[in-house]
Amino acid sequence: MRTIFNNSKFWIGLFSAVAAISIAAIVLTELNTGTDVLIFYKDKLIYTMKLSENETKRIELDEGYNEIEVKNGEVYVKSADCKNQICVNSGKKSSAGSAIICAPHSLTVKIENDGPADASV
Ligand SMILES: [Zn+2]
Repeated sequence: MRTIFNNSKFWIGLFSAVAAISIAAIVLTELNTGTDVLIFYKDKLIYTMKLSENETKRIELDEGYNEIEVKNGEVYVKSADCKNQICVNSGKKSSAGSAIICAPHSLTVKIENDGPADASV
């Protein structure tokens, strides 16, 4: 009987821990959702977009172009004429802190969360 009791206590503890971790993960994901897209060229901010608003922006640079699209809360490089196409192949991003880098064009697309004001909406 003692082992069964110990076992059930173990499972209750385990399930509680898993539930707590799941809730924490959901909260962290919510906080980690980006709100703004910042586009940098050679470390200078050249354009900003809102993840909440669908928009396509073609950035023309001396090195070429990057067409950046925000769609359904995600941002991605739709097309570019860089050699390696790493930015295009980076895919869709939506979490704060993530970035898409186009090294040949010295272009960085960063996602940020503009703070608790937006997070509480
Ligand atoms: Zn690129």
